[in-house]
Amino acid sequence: MHRTNTCGELNLNDLGKEVILAGWVQKSRDLGGMTFIDVRDRYGITQLVFNMDEDKDLCAQAREVSREYVIKVTGTVVERSNKNPKIPTGDVELKVSALEVLNPAKLPPFLIEDETDGGDDLRMKYRYLDLRRAPLRNNLILRHKMAQEIRKYLDNQNFLEVETPVLIKSTPEGARDFVVPSRMNPGEFYALPQSPQTFKQLLMVSGFDRYFQIVKCFRDEDLRADRQPEFTQIDCEMAFIEQEDILNIFEGLTTHLFKTVKGLEIGDFPRMSYADAMRLYGSDKPDTRFDMQFVELNEVAKGKGFPVFDNAELVVGINAKNCAHYTRKQLDELTDFIKRPQVGATGMVYCRFNADGTLKSSVDKFYSEEDLKAWSAAFQGEPGDLFLILSGNTDKVRKQLNELRLEMGSRLGLRDKNKFAPLWVIDFPLLEWDEESSRYHAMHHPFTSPKPEDIAMLDTHPGDVRANAYDLVINGTEIGGGSIRIHDRTLQALMLKHLGFSKEEAQKQFGFLMDAFEYGAPPHGGIAFGFDRLVSIFSGLDSIRDVIAFPKNNSGRDVMIDSPSTIADAQMKELSIKTTV
Ligand code: ASP
Repeated sequence: MHRTNTCGELNLNDLGKEVILAGWVQKSRDLGGMTFIDVRDRYGITQLVFNMDEDKDLCAQAREVSREYVIKVTGTVVERSNKNPKIPTGDVELKVSALEVLNPAKLPPFLIEDETDGGDDLRMKYRYLDLRRAPLRNNLILRHKMAQEIRKYLDNQNFLEVETPVLIKSTPEGARDFVVPSRMNPGEFYALPQSPQTFKQLLMVSGFDRYFQIVKCFRDEDLRADRQPEFTQIDCEMAFIEQEDILNIFEGLTTHLFKTVKGLEIGDFPRMSYADAMRLYGSDKPDTRFDMQFVELNEVAKGKGFPVFDNAELVVGINAKNCAHYTRKQLDELTDFIKRPQVGATGMVYCRFNADGTLKSSVDKFYSEEDLKAWSAAFQGEPGDLFLILSGNTDKVRKQLNELRLEMGSRLGLRDKNKFAPLWVIDFPLLEWDEESSRYHAMHHPFTSPKPEDIAMLDTHPGDVRANAYDLVINGTEIGGGSIRIHDRTLQALMLKHLGFSKEEAQKQFGFLMDAFEYGAPPHGGIAFGFDRLVSIFSGLDSIRDVIAFPKNNSGRDVMIDSPSTIADAQMKELSIKTTV
């Protein structure tokens, strides 16, 4: 027998018991006559004690083991004189009578402790060691719990978990495809799914009615903290429903998770149209943990001879409450922040509402006290407030002010990781203009249904057509999105035409789906949540990397297994492919 108990469970109720434990050496300490070893497994840490006076040989043996050795010990549970209230086993220790080294270990390249000295690269290379650390293990335990609760909730709602294939053809979700050459079909390639979108729609045509899958998706796009080339979605689809049904069921799922996993009652989720989100926050995923909504100032700021504002399409600002005391240096920092290439603004105007009631702006030359009072009224200003104002092209300046708002939120400590602000953003535009290719792209994906009342505008004002599409946002992160789908061949063909597909291309790429629509497709719609992001929000992390057991680095590499890598010439030949590098 390797063990009778885990390293996380012994306590005062076990006093006097003879037990066997097995695990890794967390650390050992030699205190003259006594040697202590902390032994660790998935469940916790137990202190082992060896006494020189009682068993010299055993104590000598204990001194030989180092960090990360795998050991097995037999001993008696005794009460500790020096208790450690921080760990569940902290009241007891194991007086060891026999020690066996099951496997020695090289010294690990970084400390396997909650706070490690290992840099990112090193930890990625030795991910299997990094995963021994409690914070990472806890993230994966949380992930597991969430997956179980998701299955429980969706099963209760009659959803069926159905697997869909991984070797498919392109399902456009706005990214590049990863492709896999087919040996049996020389010159032809599979694409890995950017999502199971078309398959889940086909399952609706098949009558499955409520589908879900916790599923890997693959998108070849530039990586950031919340993006990995392969990631996991909670993917769902439902038939005979309307948008309202989907929002309610998935609000229910999210509420269920907050309750069962975090013990939080999260309340009803507010809803906001895309247009309002852009107008009030400059973002389709606003962080609503704090207010600081945008205030548009065209009426009070233009026409006073200040050319920057006069020439701008939009003058818009935020009220940073109680920041009138900001020093010149702090204001310069903010100006530098908005001038960074990632934000791209050219300048910022500010106006202080001083405690004595006076208003002082950085553009006093152009604006009288009366003018500034009108600004302040727009901001609903109070003494102590600081107004920060940007101007320019509407879309651009909104994005820039969004960055500034988030920065101010962070500086003012308003983005508390333990506070959760969910929000449904609804009524997304159907199409989005892409400068680079000079044509419209589907904002969500090509299967999203336009709002019936807007279809007539497809030809005249395509950019104004709204979709039955929705996103769930939590704390400024897009957690998921979905839409009501087109279930009619003619409308789907029209949509593909508007997206620039020729009839032949549309048939080649999506003929199977349009054909299916001719065999009795029910009205349907769905949603997908980014599971990694949801777990990272629940665990208070900024990056999804540490909620994934084996993630890739920012260049899309797995440095542990060294992938991607070249393949043998013979393999290339077999696949009928040549590279040009
Ligand atoms: N397939 C979509 C996505 O991956 C989600 C959906 O529309 O259900 O974003």
